[in-house]
Amino acid sequence: MVRLESVGKRYGGLEVLRGVSLEVPEGGVVCVVGPSGSGKSTLLRCVNRLETIDAGRVWVDGELVGYREHRGRLHHLRPEELCRQRQKVGMVFQRFHLFPHMTALENVVEGPCTVRGVPRAEAVRRGRELLERVGLADRAGHYPAQLSGGQQQRVAIARSLAMSPKVMLFDEPTSALDPELVQEVLGVMRDLAASGMTMIVVTHEMGFAREAGDHLVFVDDGVIVEEGPPREVLAAPRHERTRAFLGQVL
Ligand code: ADP
Ligand code: MG
Repeated sequence: MVRLESVGKRYGGLEVLRGVSLEVPEGGVVCVVGPSGSGKSTLLRCVNRLETIDAGRVWVDGELVGYREHRGRLHHLRPEELCRQRQKVGMVFQRFHLFPHMTALENVVEGPCTVRGVPRAEAVRRGRELLERVGLADRAGHYPAQLSGGQQQRVAIARSLAMSPKVMLFDEPTSALDPELVQEVLGVMRDLAASGMTMIVVTHEMGFAREAGDHLVFVDDGVIVEEGPPREVLAAPRHERTRAFLGQVL
């Protein structure tokens, strides 16, 4: 469903990703861990083309991201094609970025109505279903300021799901939350993983990685240093850098 092949990304003279290759099969849940500044967010941003890459290739759902191939040559996608492609990828950030002047339900309904042209009644019906799925059926009429951080993040997940993405990217979705609110968000993510969603999750929650992840990737300084089944990597990291990092977060 997602494939990165030798992806390189640089900001000026700073090489942030240096030949990252990764495959996520349909329904796969890959957790990405690593120190601050190692390139984890950049990696996610390359998957939904919030960043253009300097080397390598990215595919989502069988399509080359950002380009089309025609007679053996690559051509940049037009903005509307890019927009269609980007809709395949949902993203949830550390900060929830809800529209503050809209209720939870309006936040969820907005994308399908304005971007996808879904009739409002249908979008509202589906929006209510999604809010129920994230345990917020009774908060549909609340504004973000009236919701806890955990509730806001669950609305943000519902809002992403409303666009029917093929892949969901999570960038440290619980890092900004008070400790007691972390589990309610991880619970929603566990359910989503169990439902067969393809996910790439940057997180420091090793319990989540161990139980919900199929594959764990340790990134340091723009390269994948080590990867494998989460239980194995967490129980017996082979590289010194992985051991040092896990020693700090576990
Ligand atoms: P992580 O998510 O693992 O903390 P990032 O992918 O955010 O790491 O950043 C990797 C490196 O790239 C850091 O050194 C960061 O300062 C740098 N960086 C990220 N975004 C930009 C940008 N837009 N311009 C310049 N440097 C950036
Ligand atoms: Mg980051």
